[in-house]
Amino acid sequence: MSGFAIDPCEQCEELLQPFLDRDLSDEERALAEKHLDGCAYCRKRYRFEAQLRRFVRQAATEPMSPELKTKLAELRTPLI
Ligand SMILES: [Zn+2]
Repeated sequence: MSGFAIDPCEQCEELLQPFLDRDLSDEERALAEKHLDGCAYCRKRYRFEAQLRRFVRQAATEPMSPELKTKLAELRTPLI
């Protein structure tokens, strides 16, 4: 393989935010889902982002509980 190569993980990262916002075309979403299916690294990143968003939403409506802080700390594990 030679020539232009798009790093699929980089591409997936670009899709991650709009994916979470449900702001992708069917084609893009299928691309992201397919990649997430086969890539543990991006899957972990996706889960992190999805959970972070949930916590942020929660934190906006209620004071941060010690339990929530612990969960956030647990999320900060190295990606690899
Ligand atoms: Zn990946």
